[in-house]
Amino acid sequence: MPKALVIGAGVAGPAAALFLGRAGWDVEVFEADSAPDPYEGLFLNVATNGLAILEQLGLRERLVSDAHRASRMVLRSGTGRVLGSVPNGPAGDPQRGSVVVRRGWLHAVLREGAAAAGVPLRSGARLVSIDQTATSMRATFADGRAAEGDILIGADGIGSPTRRWIDPSAPEPRYSGLVGTGGCARVPGLEPTRDAQHFIFGARSFFGYLVRDDGRVYWFANMTAPQPERGSLQRITGAEWLARLRDLHSDDSFPVPQILENAHGEIGAYPIFDLAGVRSWSRGRAVAIGDAVHATSPSSGQGASLALEDAITLAMCLRDLPDHASAFAEYQRVRRPRAEAVVRYARAIDSRKRVTKSRLGIAIRDWMMPRFLRSAADDTRNDWLYNHEIAWDQPVPSRRP
Ligand SMILES: Cc1cc2nc3c(=O)[nH]c(=O)nc-3n(C[C@H](O)[C@H](O)[C@H](O)COP(=O)(O)OP(=O)(O)OC[C@H]3O[C@@H](n4cnc5c(N)ncnc54)[C@H](O)[C@@H]3O)c2cc1C
Repeated sequence: MPKALVIGAGVAGPAAALFLGRAGWDVEVFEADSAPDPYEGLFLNVATNGLAILEQLGLRERLVSDAHRASRMVLRSGTGRVLGSVPNGPAGDPQRGSVVVRRGWLHAVLREGAAAAGVPLRSGARLVSIDQTATSMRATFADGRAAEGDILIGADGIGSPTRRWIDPSAPEPRYSGLVGTGGCARVPGLEPTRDAQHFIFGARSFFGYLVRDDGRVYWFANMTAPQPERGSLQRITGAEWLARLRDLHSDDSFPVPQILENAHGEIGAYPIFDLAGVRSWSRGRAVAIGDAVHATSPSSGQGASLALEDAITLAMCLRDLPDHASAFAEYQRVRRPRAEAVVRYARAIDSRKRVTKSRLGIAIRDWMMPRFLRSAADDTRNDWLYNHEIAWDQPVPSRRP
């Protein structure tokens, strides 16, 4: 049985391991973190297309059992005026809408699935070097462990050491001009936002929130800021973030200041990067998937779903094509145009989130947007994101009649 070493147990890694297991591969997963953190990265949108991949792994229902269904995105101005509502899923089909989950829950569901399928997960294994021979790959980890396999799959995220090994001249991630922060809250009397997430173009910062049925609020803010120095955001305490955010959103209408007033627990803060233009997704027996080769800013709500799509596609290519070289080439040929289209789509949204406008600019935007969104509410322009079908029981595109 051929063996694959998978580096990274975020989203793409466990999913790739599960599909490869079905394709007859022996798989071992290596994760740098020593223990899963259920609150890591707060929460994220798992889109219709990502849910369709989880369905094929038999994990969709488990994930949705602790998800907030969010088939609509309601956009509002800082004054509270509703600018419009757009589908967060295929137009006119709210049953197939996207959901929002804690990132730690998505990780847990995937890792449980991998464990149930007998995939070994080695924690505390930080990849530090890759060596290739004519017939195998060797991965060495920071604690001195090493492993060998026929191929190595880098699912090691946006800072991927695998990508750097595959293509040392690949572009670096690009800063979006936005810093993301977020956390949880409970606001007495704030009604659940059933089937929806709300987004507010605040006067000085972009804000998003949803209220779960039990009253828990998930919120985030995207602040316009120059690129922070590495590690500098982690030195800012939660109390300092909240003070800054309360000030930035003090002129915005209910419930934004109230959510920030009632925020509790950890406040996460991340500079938002994306990545496009990586020309080589594989080298020899190594290949990269998910954020390791293409990363969209969170504005698309698609990063995790693209990672799941990569995982199934790569496994199908390895299943259907005669050797790893042709499988890796087909995988990149099929995936790169879509992944990079999503990065461009998110960049366009980011440019609307950055607050660089004068008061007049904001007034013009708030006047224009409802006119644009009125036609967008039931149109199908974003269906290409959500209705992207990849079926395990079909051959890969180059093998179809
Ligand atoms: C603030 C924020 C909000 C986001 N919101 C959304 C959203 O709403 N919807 C959405 O779809 N996407 C969202 N994303 C993007 C999404 O999180 C990623 O696209 C997705 O997690 C990619 O999955 P992945 O498996 O490729 O990488 P990751 O999830 O980053 O997993 C990579 C794994 O590799 C491990 N690793 C890294 N280096 C090594 C090493 N040297 N050795 C071993 N292991 C290693 C890491 O510890 C990690 O577990 C958001 C991202 C951020 C930062």
